[in-house]
Amino acid sequence: MSAPVAAGAAEALDAETFGLLLDTIRTFVRDRLIPAEAEVDATDHVPAALVTEMRELGLYGLTIPTAYGGIGLNVEQSVRAFLALCYAAPVFRSIVGINNGLASWALVHLGTPAQRARYLPPLASGELVGAFCLTEPDSGSDAGALTASARRDGDHYVLNGTKRYITNAPEAGVFLVFARTDPATRDARGVSAFLVDRDTPGLHVGPPERKMGQKGAHLSDVMFDDCRVPAGALLGPEHRGFAIAMQALDRGRLHIAAMCVALAERLIDESVRYAMERVQFGKPIGEHQLVQAMLADSRAEAYAARCMVLDAAVRADQGERVSVEASCAKMFASEMVGRVADRAVQVHGGAGYIAPCVAERLYRDVRIFRLYEGTTQIQQLIIAREMLRAHGRHG
Ligand SMILES: Cc1cc2nc3c(=O)[nH]c(=O)nc-3n(C[C@H](O)[C@H](O)[C@H](O)COP(=O)(O)OP(=O)(O)OC[C@H]3O[C@@H](n4cnc5c(N)ncnc54)[C@H](O)[C@@H]3O)c2cc1C
Repeated sequence: MSAPVAAGAAEALDAETFGLLLDTIRTFVRDRLIPAEAEVDATDHVPAALVTEMRELGLYGLTIPTAYGGIGLNVEQSVRAFLALCYAAPVFRSIVGINNGLASWALVHLGTPAQRARYLPPLASGELVGAFCLTEPDSGSDAGALTASARRDGDHYVLNGTKRYITNAPEAGVFLVFARTDPATRDARGVSAFLVDRDTPGLHVGPPERKMGQKGAHLSDVMFDDCRVPAGALLGPEHRGFAIAMQALDRGRLHIAAMCVALAERLIDESVRYAMERVQFGKPIGEHQLVQAMLADSRAEAYAARCMVLDAAVRADQGERVSVEASCAKMFASEMVGRVADRAVQVHGGAGYIAPCVAERLYRDVRIFRLYEGTTQIQQLIIAREMLRAHGRHG
């Protein structure tokens, strides 16, 4: 894999304002998002009024610098903001998440002044929705083998190929697309990143897929058919696109880990509440020690994951490269929330399998975290590869 292409974020919100922001997010989650969850799951649609409120709260631009209309959180603050926001169903994070990470990271760090001025303010306000187009029908985990092409033609590039499972594609206005600019390569070298506007002739968005969970968040294929973009659409250096994608994913993985922790905490709270209410054998099931064991295991694992993601975030703010820590946190937290969701269903008994139980819904919602932005197996490969490299360096 290529070397890092840029340093971490330098900005941060002052502690008092950040505290107020967290309070505001928690209130919004409690009063507006949680009450809407069941309807969003049933209708596969987030009401426009809620999207407007999310825009007004600045949730689309949490990590985008203030100079471009964002809130300018540093990594630790963004993780804490997602720990608060993602106590609600993950669909809400999904619709703001790409603007805060995968679509904006490279723009903030590598965009030209013209690219930043054009895209970052509408991404920060939520007026523009971004999408991150890496995966293809024949290249998922092996992302470096992608075959979408971008052929230079005078002052333009001509894009061809298909991108698969692209989150927010049905709603997106700009697509960060990874395509091969050096046809002589077959691996991570020779890939470049492009910003492609939705209305560019030759760009087609497929119909939304039907998913297991996170109803209300949509994804689809994106096809490029002789799609001509100006040379100014190239983001970062030519042929360095794969390194850009990997660095964006480092940050994205921390946000996913934070989301897993928050959802685990929600599932635990739901489980404790039910365990205190439900009576079997003459006492609340929470007084049976085998039920207590499930609650305690979930609590300990969620706490471990919380510590991991915050530690990695603090290190990122100190300028450390945290690829391994981000992979460790994403792998542990996504596996952890799967176990916690499974125990939450168990604690609820038959009710845990029946809608509209929160455990039933979140059990479906959290399954994706072990798959996207690198499966658990890919995180294992990243972590082990770095361990072996470090051993080679230090003996
Ligand atoms: C809801 C959803 C949203 C998504 N959003 C986006 C998005 O916005 N943008 C985007 O670009 N992509 C997106 N994706 C794609 C996602 O990142 C990929 O699905 C994921 O990386 C896995 O790739 P794959 O599906 O091709 O599985 P494969 O790569 O085919 O993997 C299948 C299985 O083989 C295992 N495997 C593969 N290689 C190895 C290996 N070397 N060693 C051990 N095991 C291995 C995997 O771990 C997995 O268990 C999304 C997917 C979903 C389902």
